[in-house]
Amino acid sequence: MSDCHWTAMGRLFGYPECCITDFMRRVRGDMTFQEMKEENASFHGKPWGNTGFIPCRTCRPDAEKDFVAFVAERITPNRKYDKPFPEDDYT
Ligand SMILES: [Zn+2]
Repeated sequence: MSDCHWTAMGRLFGYPECCITDFMRRVRGDMTFQEMKEENASFHGKPWGNTGFIPCRTCRPDAEKDFVAFVAERITPNRKYDKPFPEDDYT
């Protein structure tokens, strides 16, 4: 998939631009080994676990502190998809 596609999907789902940028670095393989380790660790036992969304390093502390509030403030107002987060069964 193209960069453009992923960016469009992120915006459709209302994800913050900084998190989309971070995601793009991941799919392009532009992250350092240390960043990748942190990314991988950030999937396990976190409130965003299987949502398909991964907050960037900057957003991660806020998202971890109160993920419901993070979604309400940073994702829901920008979301263009017609189903509530974390539904993303776009195909
Ligand atoms: Zn972010």
